[in-house]
Amino acid sequence: MKNYDTDDMNLYLIRLGEISLKGLNRNFFEKKLKNNIKLKIHPHRSLLTREKGRFYLYVAKDCPEETVVKTLKTTFGVVGFSRALVCSKDWNEMVANAKALIEKEPFSDGCGTFKVECRRADKEFFMNSYQIESELGGVVLDRYPDMKVKVKNPEKELRVEVREKVYMYTSPVAGPGGLPVGTAGKGLLLLSGGIDSPVAGWRMAKRGLKQDCLYFHAYPYTSDMALQKVKDLAQIIAPYNQGTNLIVVNFTECELWIKDHSKEEEHTLMMRACMMKVANMIAKKRECRVLVTGEALGQVASQTLESMCFTNSMSEIPVLRPLVAMDKEEIISTARQIGTYETSILPFDDCCVIFSPKHPLVRPEVEQEKKSFSDMEIDDILQKCVDEAEEFEISYHV
Ligand code: ATP
Ligand code: MG
Repeated sequence: MKNYDTDDMNLYLIRLGEISLKGLNRNFFEKKLKNNIKLKIHPHRSLLTREKGRFYLYVAKDCPEETVVKTLKTTFGVVGFSRALVCSKDWNEMVANAKALIEKEPFSDGCGTFKVECRRADKEFFMNSYQIESELGGVVLDRYPDMKVKVKNPEKELRVEVREKVYMYTSPVAGPGGLPVGTAGKGLLLLSGGIDSPVAGWRMAKRGLKQDCLYFHAYPYTSDMALQKVKDLAQIIAPYNQGTNLIVVNFTECELWIKDHSKEEEHTLMMRACMMKVANMIAKKRECRVLVTGEALGQVASQTLESMCFTNSMSEIPVLRPLVAMDKEEIISTARQIGTYETSILPFDDCCVIFSPKHPLVRPEVEQEKKSFSDMEIDDILQKCVDEAEEFEISYHV
């Protein structure tokens, strides 16, 4: 750190978790994470170094703390983070920093249990860990007489590390965990306005998959409000995904063709087949290696095992379904946590419900449906969907 001038910068400690166990690939994961954080904090100046399994993030003081906190809470690979204060090994400065830190969260409410925990890498320092802990514990108790010391599982911690300098920080705030976005390559998320697909995209981003988003719009049968809702959902998940591109395909002609050229009970399956075909073409153009959907086994007729086997047969690239084994309640709970739920439940129709048959086939036979699909002779329309697709860039800024 000595080579950098960090006096005009705030310091945050970042815990890394899984990626620090990556052996020979560790550099690749860490580089990606550093880059992802720096991009989001830009245009504010930042500097990241790695020491002892963590990142030290320095951010120029002109960057609001809120921006840093939001960035770290939406960047996969960050397991936890804390604001830290650094000083030389001078006892008076150490006390001053402890006093400053306990004026902030989580200490600022002045109640509950706490402990001070000290690690003293520099064994020459004139106080031992125990002495530092009890002296600074006294500082906390002087300021907040209602607080109680608790050594096992306290609600709050003030941590002190005496190394080449003295680092002081409070209990970490949880980050989202996972792997840095981009480390797993790129996929194409089929994003509808529903509850499931934004959660599916979020889950795959958590495993490092960067995604473009694809939305099938059936204007004028589905409204501009429905499109706006999908844009809003893409914007909510974009910071987690380091930004995204939303591709909007007008699906109306395709749906009308399906309606006129297939049996009513097959409409939903034919529509899903068309979605797969178009998604494959777009994925190929954009170098996405997999598709991602929000399907869950048994959720609706088009998500039975037989229906999914048919949909799979229409895709040349793998279809990842991260929610396949999740209950709706579990999906909703994640949607609430990531902030998509309130937008997802806004009542604008999705294209799927507009032409949906009263009694869709639930257990289709793959070969028979493949034949129904080719009998429709819909390829030209699908190509047109791809050629006329619109694209919107969605920023990763939080
Ligand atoms: P969701 O809540 O994600 O809309 P759903 O339970 O409504 O899911 P379906 O409508 O059968 O289920 O869709 C299953 C999956 O197909 C969705 O999760 C999504 O990945 C994709 N999908 C459905 N409709 C669209 C659309 N209009 N545009 C893009 N993808 C879609
Ligand atoms: Mg849907």
